[in-house]
Amino acid sequence: MVNNRTSEATTTAVSSNGSPPKACAGCGGKIADRFLLYSMERYWHTCCLKCSCCQAQLGEIGTSCYTKRGMILCRNDYIRLFGSSGACSAC
Ligand SMILES: [Zn+2]
Ligand SMILES: [Zn+2]
Repeated sequence: MVNNRTSEATTTAVSSNGSPPKACAGCGGKIADRFLLYSMERYWHTCCLKCSCCQAQLGEIGTSCYTKRGMILCRNDYIRLFGSSGACSAC
């Protein structure tokens, strides 16, 4: 079953103080940094959670990112590619 639905995910910066290192969903490595990102029910290095399109680091942009067809997109690229409704914005 393919999940083609768009989901908007909130990105949360978390402090790893005292907890065992989490595995990064982006590169698979352990996250030994002081801060990590929690998004889409996974943990990420702050530098690994990037927009698939413009490579912007989503942790720096802050609030939310979008996932569609396995891509992770910043808000700008999501709207540019799919429009705010998910329909073609040209017609
Ligand atoms: Zn990583
Ligand atoms: Zn982008």
